[in-house]
Amino acid sequence: LPDLPAREREESCDVLVVGGGPAGSTLAAVLAERGRRVVLVEKDTHPRFHIGESLLPMNLPMFDRLGIKHEIERIGMLKYGVEFISPYHGKSITFDFANALDKGFPLAYQVRRSVFDDILFRNAVAKGAVAVEGCRITDVAFPAEGGVVALGKTEDGVERRWRARFVADASGRDTFLANRLGIRDRDRRHNSAAMFGHFTGAKRLPGKAEGNITIFWFDEGWLWFIPLCDGTTSVGAVCRPDYIKSRRGDVDTFFMETIARCPAIAERLREARLIGSVTATGNYTYRARRAAGERYILLGDAFAFIDPIFSAGVYFAMNSGFLGAETIETCLDRPRRARLALRRFEAGTRRGLDSFSWYIYRATRPALRNMFMSPRNVLGIESAMLSLLAGDVFRRSSLRARLLVFKAIYYVSSALTARRTFLAWRRHRRDLQAG
Ligand SMILES: Cc1cc2nc3c(=O)[nH]c(=O)nc-3n(C[C@H](O)[C@H](O)[C@H](O)COP(=O)(O)OP(=O)(O)OC[C@H]3O[C@@H](n4cnc5c(N)ncnc54)[C@H](O)[C@@H]3O)c2cc1C
Repeated sequence: LPDLPAREREESCDVLVVGGGPAGSTLAAVLAERGRRVVLVEKDTHPRFHIGESLLPMNLPMFDRLGIKHEIERIGMLKYGVEFISPYHGKSITFDFANALDKGFPLAYQVRRSVFDDILFRNAVAKGAVAVEGCRITDVAFPAEGGVVALGKTEDGVERRWRARFVADASGRDTFLANRLGIRDRDRRHNSAAMFGHFTGAKRLPGKAEGNITIFWFDEGWLWFIPLCDGTTSVGAVCRPDYIKSRRGDVDTFFMETIARCPAIAERLREARLIGSVTATGNYTYRARRAAGERYILLGDAFAFIDPIFSAGVYFAMNSGFLGAETIETCLDRPRRARLALRRFEAGTRRGLDSFSWYIYRATRPALRNMFMSPRNVLGIESAMLSLLAGDVFRRSSLRARLLVFKAIYYVSSALTARRTFLAWRRHRRDLQAG
């Protein structure tokens, strides 16, 4: 990294956090509460729009730890489970979190991210973090004498400069530090792209299931239906790149045409009206080669992004905030143990992501779809699948054993449906080459 030019006005802190999304705000709150001098820099101003509205049951203990449980309860739509609808099986199936291995986490929330992220950000400030909004971090250097120097630019063009002992990159899909360090790898095997918008008047499930997320499989990928508590419903399509490339007209029209290709969701939206316009994001799966190094760590989406079919992004982001806070404390207080702490952070971050990725990469293949659509609780594997859907991937060894059984069944079932699996694989490869 280049050395930055000296400036007269330099502010100092223990930890500089780049980005005030769920990862950055969680980290900043924990460290500030423990008396660290934290500066949390956000390029936007909260509340700001963000996609990623469906949370997992395992987010709830985190809200407790941050002391924001009641605030989230107030703004969240209750989500008791996940419904999958498959045109290939002609039916729907619902997984209720109450049936997971751990019965202590029977629900989650759907949230407006603008409001949710604002709560997390203000919580970090209440715990003592210094917040700087409307300021983009533009450069960072790791001088030989130690510490970190970072440059920021405010919306009105004023340059700011910080000297910190440690920097945490929580810049989300901007991947600020991974780009700087040249360590961001796109995952070409699992390319996809998304389009999403919000509707009023969508037909929801009755009763307690009203707030459930519904995932619809269809030939071009999958669609989400996320009911929010203000009456609007978030709808998105995650599609193969070649399909997205086939678009000729404007995005709004293409999105509505895409919805029409999946009769089950089209029916739910028959009387609904699109509010505002549709947003599209390009090919988007990536991972950084490292999650940590001397004087820095990468959190949440700043480290990796995988297909959001299991709604785990915010959970991973917040989890990395907690893990990151412990790691940074060790680095600051016990430098001789820093290397080990950073290695553990790296391993912990990868472990959770890997356990989800296996399922996500196979989520649109016939064998896995069959297992989701006809679950059997042989050896407790249905409960184990539910624990996975709830985000309970970091804790229990019994879960790991059952998921191994699940994977074994998957491979057997793939062999039995070999022809269809081969055709799906061949089509996937062709699509990637076209995309
Ligand atoms: C189509 C789609 C659907 C999704 N659906 C879900 C879902 O249903 N559930 C779920 O849990 N997750 C979902 N996700 C993933 C989820 O959005 C992310 O995983 C989550 O927001 C990651 O949090 P984060 O704090 O790491 O990053 P972000 O939430 O992106 O926060 C990063 C922050 O950093 C700021 N920033 C960026 N660069 C700089 C800079 N240089 N200086 C200062 N500030 C900067 C940004 O403005 C932003 O506020 C979805 C993602 C996509 C793309």
